[in-house]
This record gives sequence, C-alpha cells and structure tokens, in this order.
Amino acid sequence: MPATKFICPDGNCVPIEDCLRGCPNCQRCMFLPTLRAVANSLDRQISEPTVTELIAGTRETFLKKTTDYAVDPASILYAIHGQAVHSINERHTQGEILSEERLKDDITSGQFDLFGKILDTDEGVLGDLKVTSSFKLMKALGIYKAKVDTGEVYKSGVKKGQHKFRSELRFDGVRDILDWAIQLNYYRLLLNRAGFKVNRMFIQAICRDSGLRIAAERGITKSVYVIPVYGISDLWLERYFRHKAKALRDAIQSNTLPPVCSFRERWGDRKCLGYCPARQNCPYAQALVNQKENDFDELKIPA
Ligand code: SF4
Repeated sequence: MPATKFICPDGNCVPIEDCLRGCPNCQRCMFLPTLRAVANSLDRQISEPTVTELIAGTRETFLKKTTDYAVDPASILYAIHGQAVHSINERHTQGEILSEERLKDDITSGQFDLFGKILDTDEGVLGDLKVTSSFKLMKALGIYKAKVDTGEVYKSGVKKGQHKFRSELRFDGVRDILDWAIQLNYYRLLLNRAGFKVNRMFIQAICRDSGLRIAAERGITKSVYVIPVYGISDLWLERYFRHKAKALRDAIQSNTLPPVCSFRERWGDRKCLGYCPARQNCPYAQALVNQKENDFDELKIPA
C-alpha cells in the first residue's frame, strides 16, 4: 500500500488525491507539478519486493506495503532530485551505455543506473548515482574527527588544570558503505546472470549541502565524489536476500508485524524518530516518541 496522504505544513493530513484536486488551504505549499511528481514517485507499481526494499528493515517494508501512511511532500524532494539526476544521465548515454534497466530473478528485482564505459575504456563498469548529505559522504569516505591534545591546560574555571583538546579531521577511517555495496553487488549479480560481465563498481555521489560550512567541517570539499565499491560474495548475497524476502513474505501472508528493525536498519533510532515513512504505524517508534515526550516533561521546571 503506497502512501495515501500528504502531511500539510500545519500538521494536518489530506488524502493525496484531494490535495492534487484542490488544496484545502488558501495556497499550495509547493507548485502543483512538484506535488504531482512527489505523488508519482510514491506509487511505484512494482509487485515483487525490490532490492532496496529488502535492504531496509523487514518491519519498515512490511508496514509500507500493508498500512496506509502519510508523508510530508517536502521530505520527498531529495528523492525527486535523485530521480532528476537519473533522468539527465539517462538522456546522455548516446546509445553506448546501458541505463535504468530493471532486472529480475526469483527473489527480487532491481534497477541499475549505468553500465558500460562510464569511467574509462573498461566496458564492464557498473555505476550508481546518489544525491546525498555531507554526513553520509563523510562516513562513506572514512572521514572522522579525532580529539588531539593541544599540550595546553586550562588556567582557570571548572576545567582548571585539565588538558585542552581540539578536533582534527582524519581520512583513514573505515568506509561505511555497506548498504550501497549490498545494493550495487546485487545489481552486479543480476547483470552477470543476464550475460553482462561487471568488472568494477562505483558510486557517483553528489553532495546536496556542498559549499556549506557544515560540509567543509566534515572534510567534504567537493560537490561530487566517485567512490569505488568492494565486491561481496555471491553466496552471501543470495543467502541474505533469500532470508529477507522469506521473512517479508511470511509476515505478509500471516499478517504478523515483523520484529523491530535492526540497530543498523533504524540508524540507531534516528530513522524511527524522524525519517522512517512507516513510523506512524510502528509501535517501536511510537514508544520512542512517548518516551522522549516524558523525558522532556520531567525536565520542565514545575510552576
Ligand atoms: S520506525 Fe524504526 S523500527 Fe519502526 S519500521 Fe521504521 S525503522 Fe523500523
């Protein structure tokens, strides 16, 4: 079941069809074609679970497929940016590069972005296009902040006598691209099975907040990065996707809410609190919200 309602800026929900027919407020929160594009992007009409749906938490995908939910159209705009980047690239493949093909097997289906001579003379390069934040890029590039002792000490105040530290960027951390790597490797598997040999894989990531101070502070100084993606064994991929597809199928057939998404899938709860489209129907997310509200109430100073 795709999203059925939009959340207006005043917090009220309106059925998407009603919004597109005529905004209940005095003026639309964005142009009508943009709202139509947002609505269109939410209704993908793909019956089998896709690669990206299986990489997400099973509970999230189950709730998105079986319950009505509402989305803030503004929160979908980044996805629309991503689709625009895909369309622009697709229009410039000059007939010699494969693009945007949906491939299927008995587990899932996935649509790769670009395959062919996209970087050099190698015909077997698989490329994926991302529009992402400097925070995600920082992690993907293995950049982190280390605390370095300045050799000075505080001479007064509550920290008197303690060492002073400053933050320094380091560029030798572990590259956190697991979800991207799983996604791209499954496209590689699907392409190989269709008779196309993938030799190398890359992500071209456009930084959506490049140029801002926050991005520079994270060591992100360019607007675009080409990031190599490591290989994952076919056996591991097949087991992982079969397991996730079965868990989702069983949950849908028995109409049983799957266990809470893993720590990684729920971004250590950040996703549940503000980003997961299924959070309105997820008991775990609702419990987190209630807990946060209670913590906040306890902090309030009694009158
Ligand atoms: S709110 Fe959190 S636990 Fe619930 S479906 Fe979304 S990611 Fe999973």
